[in-house]
Amino acid sequence: MLGEPPVIELGNTTFAVRGRPRDGLRTVPDLVGWLRAIRPRLPVVLADEDLVGIGEDDLRTARELRDTVRSLADAAANGREPDPDAVAALNRLARRTPWWRELRVDPEPRVVASCAGPSVAFVLTALADEAVALFGGPARDEVRACQGPGCVLYFVHGAPRRDYCSAGCGNRARAARHYAKVRQAT
Ligand SMILES: [Zn+2]
Repeated sequence: MLGEPPVIELGNTTFAVRGRPRDGLRTVPDLVGWLRAIRPRLPVVLADEDLVGIGEDDLRTARELRDTVRSLADAAANGREPDPDAVAALNRLARRTPWWRELRVDPEPRVVASCAGPSVAFVLTALADEAVALFGGPARDEVRACQGPGCVLYFVHGAPRRDYCSAGCGNRARAARHYAKVRQAT
């Protein structure tokens, strides 16, 4: 987890280790682990018992959303038009679970998101809704692909400007530049 918006974190469950692509969402337990880690930052309350009911269907939905987010992030980061299939997929995922906002007044007035279906399906729909807001709003121009050697992660860059998803990638890039310079000199 990089502290990015949860939907970007979902996109980053495809990552690279020493330049080799890895899939962090291959199994239902992978999805349970990811949801448990991101839970405090989700727009929807997810209880422990909700995590028990996660199945293959949720995994398929999460993976489709992940791949869709990566496609849209790639287009945004490179200033390209988004793939129409990815746009259609995102809109389909965003309307999968009907949900609404409710006013709660105890202990103090606040807004909570509610739905009639299972919580995990709702979480995935809410993440798709976050992606709609991200790629349909001004933050789209802030989406970047990490420039670290072999890195395939995305991030939303704010101030200060940065080119890397993490300090680790920045250090690896500096080391690679240094190595290239030394090799050129010898
Ligand atoms: Zn990186």
